[in-house]
Amino acid sequence: MTPEPRFLVDRMLGTLTRYLRLLGYDTARADTLPPGNPKEDTELLQWAEREGRILLTRDRELAGRAGEQGIYIREKEILNQLAYLKDRGKIDLSVRLIRCSICNSLLEDAPEEEIRGADYTPDEGRDLTFRWCPSCRRLYWMGSHTEDIIWRIEALNQRSEKAP
Ligand SMILES: [Zn+2]
Repeated sequence: MTPEPRFLVDRMLGTLTRYLRLLGYDTARADTLPPGNPKEDTELLQWAEREGRILLTRDRELAGRAGEQGIYIREKEILNQLAYLKDRGKIDLSVRLIRCSICNSLLEDAPEEEIRGADYTPDEGRDLTFRWCPSCRRLYWMGSHTEDIIWRIEALNQRSEKAP
């Protein structure tokens, strides 16, 4: 089995970054670099090379420079972007709550006091399994803010299964 792909995503693809992390993929983003660097493209290529990341970009020329390691994302709509990566055999479309969508850290089981202390957890949440980002202290659970995303990804799965 090939190792799971890791991604580096350009500044134009913030939504895709969030979705890839919800799918569980290790996804770094260009926004963490200082802005306004005229040599940013070169930096991104070096970063992808150094960490063995697939560079996802809306810049066709940059994708070309990355060669095998670059993928040009032409699609504008998030679900089409995901379908494209699935069709290229790069990702599976199933939500795994293992990674923080904000900062890319691996989630851990949420400490009891973090669940009790958060004012945004559901009242009927006793049976839910909570996961927690140790870096930004955000709580995750199936449902809630991920519900819409999960639903959209499942719809997308059905769509591509029906495709000829
Ligand atoms: Zn986080």
